[in-house]
Amino acid sequence: MDLRKVYLDHAATTPVRSEVAEMVSRFMLEEFGNASSVHNWGRRAREAVERARGQVASLIGARSEEIVFTSGGTESDNLAIKGVALANRERGRHIITSRIEHHAVLHACEFLEEEGWKVTYLPVDGDGLVDPDDVRRAITPETVLVTIMMANNEVGTIEPVAEIGRICAEHDVYFHTDAVQVVGNLPVDVEEIRVDLMTISGHKMYAPKGVGALYIRKGTRIASVLHGGAHERGLRAGTENVPGIVGMGLACELAQRELPERVPRLRSLRDRLIDGILATIPDVRLNGHRERRLPNNVNVSFRHIEGEALLLDLDLEGIGASSGSACTSGSLDPSHVLLAMGLPYEWAHGSVRMTLGKDTTDEDIDYVLEVLPRVVRRLRDMSPLTPIRKEYPRNVH
Ligand SMILES: *Cc1c(COP(=O)(O)O)cnc(C)c1O
Repeated sequence: MDLRKVYLDHAATTPVRSEVAEMVSRFMLEEFGNASSVHNWGRRAREAVERARGQVASLIGARSEEIVFTSGGTESDNLAIKGVALANRERGRHIITSRIEHHAVLHACEFLEEEGWKVTYLPVDGDGLVDPDDVRRAITPETVLVTIMMANNEVGTIEPVAEIGRICAEHDVYFHTDAVQVVGNLPVDVEEIRVDLMTISGHKMYAPKGVGALYIRKGTRIASVLHGGAHERGLRAGTENVPGIVGMGLACELAQRELPERVPRLRSLRDRLIDGILATIPDVRLNGHRERRLPNNVNVSFRHIEGEALLLDLDLEGIGASSGSACTSGSLDPSHVLLAMGLPYEWAHGSVRMTLGKDTTDEDIDYVLEVLPRVVRRLRDMSPLTPIRKEYPRNVH
C-alpha cells in the first residue's frame, strides 16, 4: 500500500503552483529576454516585469513604483534594515526590533550593532505578542527604524502592527515589517498598517524560491546595499530574475482572488487539528496566541519528548512537519522564539510546527490526528524523560 504523504511545512516553503510553473517555464524557454535590452525580446521581458510589479502592488494596496524586486525575504529584510540605517545615519543610529524576529532581521540588526548602531530587542508575552506601549517607550530622538514582523513564522502569532505603525508615524520613525508569512495567506493593506517598508517572499506563496519583493513607501529615505547597474530604480542592482518575478506576480494575483474562500477553510482545518491534538494527547500545550494566529499555523509542545525525534517518526509515517524554523532545525538549541515567550526548556524541546497549505484536505487532518497520538505514545514509552505512572495526567493547556 502506498504511504499517504501529508506535507505540513508550508511556512518553510510551498510547492510552486502549476499555473505559476507554466508561466515561469515560458519566461525561461521563450520569453527569455533581458528586461534592460532595447530589442523586442527585452521589451517583452520589461513589460512582463512591470505587469508583475502591478500584481504584487495590488495584493497589498500599494502603488507599482513602491515595489522593488529582490532575491527573497532575506534580501528584502537586509535592504530595508541596512538601507534605512545607512541613509538616515545622520538623523540617528537607534533601531527597535523584537526578540522573536526571523534571523534575516535579527542578524542584520546584530551586524549594524557591530558597526556602531544601538538596537533595542523588545520582549514578548507568553503568547508571543509585542506590546505597542513597549515600542512607544523605546523610541528616542535617535530612533530611525522600528522593525517588527507581521506574524511569527514559528508560532503564528499575529503582531499588533497597525497600532505599532500609528505609533511610528506619530514619532516620525520608519516602520518596517517582515510580512513573509502573511502576504498570500491573509489580506494585507499597507495603508491600514501605516507601514513604510514591507518584506515579501515568493516561495512562501506558491511562487519559486529566489524571488521576493520589498514594499517601500514613496518618499522613504533608503540606500542601496547591492551596487552595480541601475536596475530597480538604482535600489537593487543585478539583471532581473524575470521568470521568478512574473511567477511571483501571477501568484499574487491568484492569491488575491482565492483568499476570501481559502482563509476561512484553512482556519477551520487548523482549529480541527489543534482541538483534536489537545483532546487526544496528554501533556501537550499550544504555542502562540489562540485567536491572533495565522490561519495555517499549528505549533504544539509535547512534554518529555524531543521534537526532532517526533519529526523523524512523523516523516516515516509520511508527514512533513518541522520543529521551530527550518533554519534552526539541525541544531538542538531550542528556538529563540519559544524561549523569548518564556517556555521552559522541557516544553521548548518538544515543539512541533505543522503549517497547512492551500491544498491541505480534511483527509490530511484526519490522517495526522490518527498518527500523531500513536507516535507520541510510542516515544514517551521509550523515553527516559517520562515519569513512571499508570495514567498520563490531564491535558495542560
Ligand atoms: C522564510 C522567511 C524569511 C526568508 O525568506 P527567504 O525568501 O527564504 O529568504 C524571512 N522572514 C520570514 C518570517 C520567513 O518566514
